[in-house]
Amino acid sequence: MRSIPQRFLVDHSVTAFRPVLVVLLVACGRAGRPEMEPVPLPRAPASPVVVAGLPPVPAVAGAPVAIRVQYPGANQLLTTRDSTFILGAVGSGDVALRINGVTVPVAPNGAFLGWLAVPSSTVPRYELEAVRGADTVRRTVPIRLPVRPPLMGGGALRVDSGSLAPGRGVWARGNEFVRVSVRAPQNAVVTVLGGDRVRVPLQALGAPAVETDSTVDVATVFATDVLAAALADSSEPARLLVSRGRDTVQLTVPFVRALPTTSRPLGVLRSASTVGSDTDRVISARTIVDGTYKWQLLPGTVLEVTGRQRGYTRVRLDAELEVWVDSNEIVLLPAGTALPRRVTGGFRMTPFVTPAADYVDVVIGTGERPAHHVEAEGRTMTLTLYGVQANPDISPIIGNDTLVRRMTWEQVTTDRVRVTLHLSQPAYGWLSLWDDARRAFVLRVRRLPTIDAARPLRGLTIAVDPGHPPAGSTGPTGLYEGDAVFPVGLALVELLRKRGANPVITRTSLEAVGLAERGVQARRANVHAFISIHLNALPDGANPFTANGTSTLFYHNASEPLARAVQRAMQVRFGLRDLGVHYQNLAVARPSWYPSALAEGLFVIVPEQEAAMRDAGFQRKYAEALLAGLEQYFRALATRDGGRTP
Ligand SMILES: [Zn+2]
Repeated sequence: MRSIPQRFLVDHSVTAFRPVLVVLLVACGRAGRPEMEPVPLPRAPASPVVVAGLPPVPAVAGAPVAIRVQYPGANQLLTTRDSTFILGAVGSGDVALRINGVTVPVAPNGAFLGWLAVPSSTVPRYELEAVRGADTVRRTVPIRLPVRPPLMGGGALRVDSGSLAPGRGVWARGNEFVRVSVRAPQNAVVTVLGGDRVRVPLQALGAPAVETDSTVDVATVFATDVLAAALADSSEPARLLVSRGRDTVQLTVPFVRALPTTSRPLGVLRSASTVGSDTDRVISARTIVDGTYKWQLLPGTVLEVTGRQRGYTRVRLDAELEVWVDSNEIVLLPAGTALPRRVTGGFRMTPFVTPAADYVDVVIGTGERPAHHVEAEGRTMTLTLYGVQANPDISPIIGNDTLVRRMTWEQVTTDRVRVTLHLSQPAYGWLSLWDDARRAFVLRVRRLPTIDAARPLRGLTIAVDPGHPPAGSTGPTGLYEGDAVFPVGLALVELLRKRGANPVITRTSLEAVGLAERGVQARRANVHAFISIHLNALPDGANPFTANGTSTLFYHNASEPLARAVQRAMQVRFGLRDLGVHYQNLAVARPSWYPSALAEGLFVIVPEQEAAMRDAGFQRKYAEALLAGLEQYFRALATRDGGRTP
């Protein structure tokens, strides 16, 4: 059985975004709320939502009463402690449903969605009771709740040893401070004893009030920063002493590997992906461990390694910037390997700008692969080269290309270069490439396609991407997102053909297609746009009655106009709440060669919206909305000043 995603307004195409952790921390960080305190019960809506743009929910009456809970699953861990939703079906619409004593509305087809207080930790379950006349069916769904051991103000001293940080496998520079922290009773004294007789007290981060009652949970987090070198003495590992009165608990602090400060450990990036060519393989880098992707680096880039933790390795892009990559995507080089010098020996490389019919290559010799970042905004493209020194003797005015007109450069810091391309019209897309023969970084800038404003889709290649599997959400009556969006994709393909476009569908059956593979297919087909079709869901703790609606997501700024056009087209047809157009760290939207948008037209967990997705007429309506969005986007491009309208 597939479960509902644990993300807020977020889709499964995200591979690196965990807002739930934040929610969890906030929820759990609320000190002092006793387990048994009653939570105010939110009122369930009196009648099903009727939306003009959706077909009416077909009525089912008289079918046998049967309770099927879609979410949460039996013994599932709920990641919130206040209120959350439960969804499923009871067989037909003429059944009355109560869950944990609260009446939950049942849609005409028997689907239900309830927004209820999270069961207490002493009775961790949902009791469902479905009634029609004399017919009563009961069902119990046990759940689990996040548990953090309570630490009492009195009695025997207890410490949450599982909370001790740093964990295992941490690397840091020896002269770098490492955060040491632990959950302990607020009225304890906590000290770290490290190598070289280092003795550092930890400070309580919680409230100052001190309880000594053995029935009161006074757990708080203690923390301080200690030099990595002091935690790295392997002959005698660092210890954490927690004491209260005569009671003492001692914990061993996991060994921190201190990286040398007198030499430079290096690693070379390699892509863990087995999909696609070198052109498609990139290593994503983030500002924090497990954070949002920001840099797409080339395999083979050599960088200094400055730290490691929780499966991520910190690398230095240049003197001013360190970022994190997946530890599986970097291989350490033998000690003593020299960091490559990267100097742009002038922008005189011949040919420096190489025009082709659909794109133009800007070739910058750097000797070795540099870490880089590309940003496109209007008629400006900015290429940042890290760990690079520029030494150009000219600032070229480009005479041989109609798109790239002028280039300026700036040495931003000692080893960071910013190259700015001034274009005659916005770049349609771009690719970062490494030319090994010329030892040059190549920024391939894509030209705006030729568009006929009267028939804006004619001759264009469009990727249609029915979202999932793998992963995906499931609605109350068991409609799986991957299955539900597939007919929408097929309908869109048919509509695009009628408009003279050349559609490319990324998934041709209900079988799974990987996220990376979808982007590779689209780039190889040289598509002019990528539309991903999805249905939305919510994480635990978000109210589906107020947080549902239509949204569209994008990754690159250059894709925002496409996302807006798609959002507007869905909005006027579906009539649902406008949840807006948002940036999101989406795998399928990350390729930069074409604009892409990910449509979250409606919520599969909401009974009325799930029912609409079972309706062939509405499936077509969803496809028509996407078609209209695409058409609107390309029409605007064709009529825009500077467009290459024939
Ligand atoms: Zn999805």
